[in-house]
Amino acid sequence: MRVLVVEDDVNLNRQLKEALTEAGYVVDIALDGEEGHYLGDTEPYDAVVLDIGLPQMDGLSVLEAWRRTGKIMPVLLLTARDRWSDKVQGIDAGADDYVAKPFSPRELVARVGAVLRRVRPALAGETLVFADIEMDTVAHKVRRGGKPVALGPTEFRLLRHLLEHPGRVFSRERLLDSVWGHDSDIELRTVDVHIRRLRKAINQGDRPDLIRTVRSAGYSLDAEGA
Ligand code: CA
Repeated sequence: MRVLVVEDDVNLNRQLKEALTEAGYVVDIALDGEEGHYLGDTEPYDAVVLDIGLPQMDGLSVLEAWRRTGKIMPVLLLTARDRWSDKVQGIDAGADDYVAKPFSPRELVARVGAVLRRVRPALAGETLVFADIEMDTVAHKVRRGGKPVALGPTEFRLLRHLLEHPGRVFSRERLLDSVWGHDSDIELRTVDVHIRRLRKAINQGDRPDLIRTVRSAGYSLDAEGA
């Protein structure tokens, strides 16, 4: 799942990106309100963490602008102080939750998870299943045919993305965007490397290959022919 973090404090922004990435989210960042507004307007995020005090355009204006144009992704607001007026205005503007600074990154990750479970129970659910693959997204465990499969963090995010959209074909470019994040400058063939590792891990013991390579198009999770 993709999360956008809009926070002008560079250190806090980095900490939040790290904590959310570790929790299995794909994270894009913006350091001011205008960039945040633009990204939220043009990219499909599952949730946004939005600071109120931002340069260019403040968080409440960003949120109001999104809601005016029908953007419904859950938004969690951050503010420097536990200011009651900010909270009331934030909820009025369409925020789904509110966290007062200072907070720990771990606490924020838990709140993002809670917002997603409330808004999109199916996707934030604990288990994703396809054929004989099961992924526990909370405990970060994958099993195939009941046997545990060890995956690196990138392979985990890659598999999670495929499990969330079974049968759909993703180009390498789309996978880079969705799994590595919007502004990663990673080469396309990196995707192939991680797909190969993922295949090796989940196909151990000569299991049927569930990842289909679609020539000149990309990859999909597909039980056909497996
Ligand atoms: Ca700020």
